[in-house]
Amino acid sequence: MDRNKLDILRARYADTGAGQSHNPEFRKILEQVFAGTDRRPKPYEGVSTLLDAPLRAQAVQQGKLADLGVALVGVPMDLGVTNRAGARHGPRAVRSVERIGPYHHVHRLAPLAEIAVADIGDVPFRSRFSLEQSHQDIEDFYAKLVAVGVAPLSVGGDHSITLPILKAVGRKGPVGLVHIDAHCDTGGPFEGSKFHHGGPFRQAVLAGVLDPERTIQIGIRGGAEYLWEFSYASGMTVVHAEEFQRDGLARTIKKVRTIVGDGPTYVSFDVDSLDPAFAPGTGTPEAGGLSTAEAMGLLRGCAGLDIIGGDVVEVAPQYDATSNTAQVGAQMLFEILALVALAAVRRGARA
Ligand code: MN
Ligand code: MN
Repeated sequence: MDRNKLDILRARYADTGAGQSHNPEFRKILEQVFAGTDRRPKPYEGVSTLLDAPLRAQAVQQGKLADLGVALVGVPMDLGVTNRAGARHGPRAVRSVERIGPYHHVHRLAPLAEIAVADIGDVPFRSRFSLEQSHQDIEDFYAKLVAVGVAPLSVGGDHSITLPILKAVGRKGPVGLVHIDAHCDTGGPFEGSKFHHGGPFRQAVLAGVLDPERTIQIGIRGGAEYLWEFSYASGMTVVHAEEFQRDGLARTIKKVRTIVGDGPTYVSFDVDSLDPAFAPGTGTPEAGGLSTAEAMGLLRGCAGLDIIGGDVVEVAPQYDATSNTAQVGAQMLFEILALVALAAVRRGARA
């Protein structure tokens, strides 16, 4: 090693204190993390929140939302499942995941430093027994967020929760959708219910809150294809898992950007889009799915789109003794938060 170079490095770094950096971009994050001390928070202490965001439980109930940019919400409800139950435990499992963020090295952004983000707790449900009543509770809760311009980012719960969320988010006009899932979830009614987790995107289109021509569904596979007629009939773009493997990430991202365009777009991530090797903790696993790296690449490819909210659903932690499903669920939540933050920063938002 060049002696002169070593002297320069010693002069710059031999006495560097905690939380200091010569890089202004990193310094900004360090100052927030260390907060003028020589310590940074221990990931295993304190009260767990979604993505370590500050906790503001009851913010909706108390009407204290005005200064928020993004609300992280737990939706512990799985009355819409068609197979294995358990996604009601998803929010708690994702809250217990630590060390996601604060910095996104690809987007070069720390979402919590750019916009005001809080974990506002869980949607309060009047009854643990009624699916229809629970959906009304969700819609009412999200309507209050949307009314004051807060972008919602949710952890389910089963995928049926996305219908009432979209009813609130798409109230002023239908939104576009990037939907990553093993299943199209555009099935029709059966056994007396049209609000199960296999049909939210059919109902959202019929309710006038989702634009099918600005909807792309990626990762689709498995034996339920015969249920997805509505996706094709309504003009949604369906990318099956094998088509994704054939076309690759770059071509698929190009397709996503062409389909959803510049308009307001919601991101819905069903953790069963991932191969069960990466995320076994879910109610309707399907072999042959995306890797976590592929899913993260897809979401990162949405940077610059007008992402107005999103969700991560179907984390059922009890089927995964490793806790990896909750881990990747939290990672995908962070990826979507980064997209929402990028869109908010472009619109001029500040923390
Ligand atoms: Mn789904
Ligand atoms: Mn699914």
